Amino acid sequence: MEQTRDEIRLASDLQSDSIVDGPGLRTVIWTQGCGHKCKGCQNPQTWDHNGGGLVPLDMVKEAIDELECQTGITFSGGDPMYQPYQCTELAKYCKKKGYNIWVYTGFTYEKLMEMAKKDKIYLEFLKYIDVLVDGPFILKERNLSLLFRGSSNQRLIDVPKSLKENKIVLFDESEYLEEDKLKRKKTYI
Ligand code: SF4
Repeated sequence: MEQTRDEIRLASDLQSDSIVDGPGLRTVIWTQGCGHKCKGCQNPQTWDHNGGGLVPLDMVKEAIDELECQTGITFSGGDPMYQPYQCTELAKYCKKKGYNIWVYTGFTYEKLMEMAKKDKIYLEFLKYIDVLVDGPFILKERNLSLLFRGSSNQRLIDVPKSLKENKIVLFDESEYLEEDKLKRKKTYI
């Protein structure tokens, strides 16, 4: 059966209380489908565009309504940009509820802006995103000390500022790096 715009293909249930997919306590929406096929990808089971399961957007919204004590919502996968209509609808819903939104994608910001010239939905989706973690995972550039990302080519992009200034503005991660250092220090004491 063909996927409608009222359904999203997910790799799994929503996962609450994540502390590694952006700042604070977050719920991750694991989308199914990714064409980047990065060497060393941790979730190759999410590549198949026909895998996972189709879930009505209303059901996902109900699950979002039931969340408690979450700082934000993170779209990951898979690559959420393969289902831009559905993800935009959900991002809009989450934003209305006051959640901060992070999105992981294998596309670069520049590529998404190019794609947006052909289909405005990409720009529409970007408008609801606080931080975009962009670019494919590159095994040769893997770096475990990076904050919230796996390889050094990937950037944490402050999307509202980037759209406003019409150039890429990086997310200020200094506050989180300090917190991270403190956490590490505490484990030595
Ligand atoms: S973009 Fe992400 S999910 Fe897709 S292949 Fe690369 S690492 Fe895996």
